[in-house]
Amino acid sequence: MISFEHVSKRYDDGTQAVTDFSLTIASHSLTALVGSSGSGKTTLLRCINRMVEPTSGRILWDGVDIAEANPVHLRRQMGYVMQQSGLLPHRKVIDNVATVLRLTGVDRTAAYRRAREVLNTVGLEPALEQRYPAQLSGGQAQRVGVARALAADPKVLLMDEPFGAVDPIVRRELQREIARLHAELHKTIIFVTHDIDEAFALADQIVILKTGGVIAQVGSPAEILANPADDFVRQFLGLHHGERQLRTEQHGDHTVVLTASGRVAGVLT
Ligand code: ADP
Ligand code: MG
Repeated sequence: MISFEHVSKRYDDGTQAVTDFSLTIASHSLTALVGSSGSGKTTLLRCINRMVEPTSGRILWDGVDIAEANPVHLRRQMGYVMQQSGLLPHRKVIDNVATVLRLTGVDRTAAYRRAREVLNTVGLEPALEQRYPAQLSGGQAQRVGVARALAADPKVLLMDEPFGAVDPIVRRELQREIARLHAELHKTIIFVTHDIDEAFALADQIVILKTGGVIAQVGSPAEILANPADDFVRQFLGLHHGERQLRTEQHGDHTVVLTASGRVAGVLT
């Protein structure tokens, strides 16, 4: 379990990126942080692996204050996937993945064996292992990014708009892949997106953020939909002016909530 306790972050130039943020993230859950650009999503994510230090408040991981953890050790247990895959351009795909493991002291043979295994896990064709990142499509590069984050078998996966730069069809494919990995690997995943549809498709818990990293609402997709906290949330959900991105269908006694792409986001009772 990861708990934020009254976390605030004010950058040196005075920007208040996060304001009194408290949240509990259950182990093995997938939490989506959703908000428009500048709402503090990346800052919050980076507080978890100590790439950003909060100005006040604290973050506990299984009861231990992460401020007391060794940052390098902490980051090894937390895979990180960025919007741009962040792959080393002068290294082949397989080397990009194996390198992370080599850095943690894994021997060469084991590192390459594990790299192949994890590339297979994310569904990358073996033929692509010998390519350089520039020779991959956006979607393929993001798969490699996910493989690299999973290589050291971290307990936690931090994903910062990982599919923001890929086209909608590939994006949907990658979302399905993440849902499958989440179901199979039982990682705790914290997923940042500005796409509410993506959040509804993937998350157990959704956190909707306003400017300044202020929480507008926290809940399961079904809870938020059934009971939007205020006009801001309603607006965010696209429930205004009939331009709803989410819709409901009646099936017997159950109201099923569907995303714009037709996936089930939740069931209201
Ligand atoms: P998001 O990921 O939701 O777009 P960020 O966490 O990146 O939001 O940024 C939140 C706010 O903090 C924004 O106003 C941004 O300009 C500001 N910010 C982010 N990083 C820094 C930094 N290193 N120094 C100063 N301000 C920053
Ligand atoms: Mg960001």
